[in-house]
Amino acid sequence: MTQTENRPSVSDTPLVPIETIVSLCKRRGFVYPNSEIYGGVAGIYDFGPLGVELRNNIRRYWWWSMVQTNDNIVGIEGAIITNRKVWEASGHVENFVDRLVDCKNCKRRFRLDHLPAENVEQNKCPVCGGELTEPRTFNLLMETYLGVVEGERMQTYLRGEACQNIYLDYDNVLKSSRMQVPFGICQIGKAFRNEVTPGNFLFRQREFEQWDLQFFVHSSEMQQWFDYWKERRFEWYQGIINHKDRLRFRAHGSDELAHYAKQAFDIEYRTVLGWQEWEGIHWRQDWDLSRHSQYSGHDLSYTNPVTGEKFIPWIVETSGGVDRTFLFLLLDAYEEEPDPAGKEPRTVLRLHPMLAPVKVAVLPLQKNKEELLNTAKNIHKRLQRLMVSQYDDVANIGRRYRRQDEIGTPYCVTVDFQTLDDQTVTVRERDGMTQVRVAINELPAYLLERVTWK
Ligand code: ATP
Repeated sequence: MTQTENRPSVSDTPLVPIETIVSLCKRRGFVYPNSEIYGGVAGIYDFGPLGVELRNNIRRYWWWSMVQTNDNIVGIEGAIITNRKVWEASGHVENFVDRLVDCKNCKRRFRLDHLPAENVEQNKCPVCGGELTEPRTFNLLMETYLGVVEGERMQTYLRGEACQNIYLDYDNVLKSSRMQVPFGICQIGKAFRNEVTPGNFLFRQREFEQWDLQFFVHSSEMQQWFDYWKERRFEWYQGIINHKDRLRFRAHGSDELAHYAKQAFDIEYRTVLGWQEWEGIHWRQDWDLSRHSQYSGHDLSYTNPVTGEKFIPWIVETSGGVDRTFLFLLLDAYEEEPDPAGKEPRTVLRLHPMLAPVKVAVLPLQKNKEELLNTAKNIHKRLQRLMVSQYDDVANIGRRYRRQDEIGTPYCVTVDFQTLDDQTVTVRERDGMTQVRVAINELPAYLLERVTWK
């Protein structure tokens, strides 16, 4: 992906408080609290008109980079509800648990694994120093029931992680496509967790969306593919943020590693909450396919068509989230820029143009001249077929630029009196606020070149 021209250096801009993003999201229609008029539900959100555009762009870009541009990867879309045995085989029924403690004094709740070691040792609340309760264990899976007749209803779960569908469909993909090991299956989909400490806006929700790549390899090539995907995924995140210094790898310590994992890394992003996981790169060995073979009685081994060797493929997993990407991108993009003229600071969302919810705004310079309005509306109608375009003729031009800066629109097209003479418009770019004249006929190609991924 290319970056917008005139992008200023942003490495020294301060970390943005989460509340600033929550307020922007509500005010401008990115994210709303779910069922707000009834008091809401903790950890569940709805996405508004701009939010849904941003989410779709994030999803599409991931899908394009992972599925469409790799010959050895295909995509699936699995169901949210599966046979309950899936969750027994995966280990979630037994082990998908969080241990939590409450502060007896301030009543705050903490996940035991998120507390600093000294607080655990001293049994002390990290906020007020009060005494903590004994740890209690909770399973994170959300139960649901299929069927209508009491006594015959089948209990199962809303999926706790989206990737299980990939293991379940792996054999069908092999039989119905021309894939051969090494190959990958991708999926984007909702997951549900009864998180004991939902919070920090979209960071930890109860209903959220994950993206996964499960890449199936021969054990002898595991290290090479693990290293490959680890680097590719890091580059992917680097390509969509401004603050490259806020991205890092964190290697899992031996006490965090699953028994089958030789290594694991989190790609982390630095926010006001500290360094936080954005995506996990996991060494899953043959754990998932072996367990499902064992629990289902269905042999999930693979036979090499050339050598005849039969084996259970090992898996490299890259698992991230649409919602954390949404939140981290907003935190990364938000800036309040001082105005040299001493007026109010300019709020600008420096989102990558290819992910920005609105690509272009078409603005007639003045409202009282019919010809300007008609020309601007025609340009907007033409652009709308190619990208998300907004038409706006309310308030002075400066105010309208500010409105677009605040939602991250990378280009504003202004139709002025010169347009009526020579059929050119002013294109103003968001980050550097530079302006160029472009012929109306060349405008679609000019903008497409800058807002589509390649
Ligand atoms: P944590 O330790 O923070 O609970 P995890 O290691 O259990 O997370 P995974 O199961 O590996 O997370 O999930 C993969 C990705 O899904 C995470 O990197 C994150 O982007 C996203 N994710 C996980 N849990 C949530 C959640 N509750 N809300 C939003 N996104 C989530």
